[in-house]
Amino acid sequence: LPTAILIGRPNVGKSALFNRLIRRREALVYNTPNDHVTRDIRDGVAKLGDLRFRVLDSAGLEAEATSGSVLGRTAAMTGEVLAKAQFVLFLIDARDGLQPMDLDVGKWLRIHASGIKIIVVMNKAELLDQFSGSLAAASGEAYTLGFGDPIALSAETGLGMTELHATLRPILEDYVLHVLKEEDLQDSGSLGDEEDDSKLPLQLAIVGRPNVGKSTLLNAILLENRVLVGPEAGLTRDSIRVQFQYEGRSVYLVDTAGWLERTKQDKGPSSLSIVQSRKHLMRAHVVALVLDAEEISKGRRSMKHAEVVIARRAVEEGRGLVVVVNKMDLLKGKQNAKMYERVINAVPEEIQTVIPQVTGIPVVFVSAIEGKGRLSVMRQVIDTYEKWCVRLPTARLNRWLRKVMSRHSWKDQSAQPKIKYFTQVKARPPTFVAFVSGKVELSDTDLRFLTKSLKEDFDLGGIPVRIMQRNVV
Ligand code: GDP
Repeated sequence: LPTAILIGRPNVGKSALFNRLIRRREALVYNTPNDHVTRDIRDGVAKLGDLRFRVLDSAGLEAEATSGSVLGRTAAMTGEVLAKAQFVLFLIDARDGLQPMDLDVGKWLRIHASGIKIIVVMNKAELLDQFSGSLAAASGEAYTLGFGDPIALSAETGLGMTELHATLRPILEDYVLHVLKEEDLQDSGSLGDEEDDSKLPLQLAIVGRPNVGKSTLLNAILLENRVLVGPEAGLTRDSIRVQFQYEGRSVYLVDTAGWLERTKQDKGPSSLSIVQSRKHLMRAHVVALVLDAEEISKGRRSMKHAEVVIARRAVEEGRGLVVVVNKMDLLKGKQNAKMYERVINAVPEEIQTVIPQVTGIPVVFVSAIEGKGRLSVMRQVIDTYEKWCVRLPTARLNRWLRKVMSRHSWKDQSAQPKIKYFTQVKARPPTFVAFVSGKVELSDTDLRFLTKSLKEDFDLGGIPVRIMQRNVV
């Protein structure tokens, strides 16, 4: 489970929020022997709507800190605890306004929690008058901490928990618990009627070895888009986020700082390591892997080992993948015609070979330096994202299932598995469950056939699609 840690000066209501999040569940209290003091950290499973996450309450660390500075106290909290967390709920008191101690905590977090998502929570908001403007004023003040928009809530009354849920959901989307109910399986498609996820901001990672032209490509794309580049208020340079609007949607570039900074000093062939980490990939919805056409034309294979690794990993992690072959301008002219042809044919073939489980991964050939093909890159990225977000109504899937079952020539007729229902349980990436009667299991061949048909019939080529099976009586 992803882990949240509650941090804030004493008396802001960390334990109250902890208790509300874990409801009546059992909280584990364990000791972290550190230096020569023993501190307690409460550890529980939070339940917030359809979200589950682990939550750690640092309130126990306050015991010996009443006299000391909050910095000393939070600093005493082991780096280990913070390292476990995927996000921090940084609590302040809505009514008290920002106190010097809050600023200290903020400062400390900026140094020690860079790379961890920090959400400012203004607790005790029920004490503020929504209409007199005091809530707005307090929010404005909290915003100056530099961690984005604060959430006003009341751990005591439960006010604002929906807002907390709405903020956490995109962060935890891969951990949403899907409870399958009979009616979900038979309905006329409640999944399909839900809000259109593809309108949510797209998180794009542009990855590739140094010098393949990532920065140049990014600049070409941004050329005609309104850009917001630069550190957000108060964040370290590591957290530089680039955001732009493309055809009316927000696109965030993931880990841009990583390569913008690193590529300049680190031009070694193996320095793809930063983008290879799962953590970075998991933040992206779509990964654009940039290759260098000139290198391809010289080499025996189109993709270097590191590039194969990252392409595979992106797909295994369920991300959308778009391959961009850059520097096509270097293969212009008659003398290069053969080479040009070879690159255009070789890349898609090789990708198919190294990632056999996903057919039709889009490949775009561009010249970032001449600005050619940048629009196709964005078109493919958005197209991939929309497919990745698709939600297919159960009724439609089951009509499809009946057709497809009759189309398939099952090897052993007597042992033909009967799929009772077929339903999509999750989008981003599309994930389906086939409910199979009895104890029969679908073979790999059956699953491959189903996946292939699903992709063809619903135009889901190029993205990872998952089918799971469950037995029903
Ligand atoms: P990054 O390390 O992946 O961000 O690569 P850069 O964008 O810094 O580009 C590395 C080098 O390749 C620079 O000298 C660019 O001018 C050059 N470059 C980038 N794109 C192209 C392209 O489409 N054609 C050519 N010929 N050179 C390019």
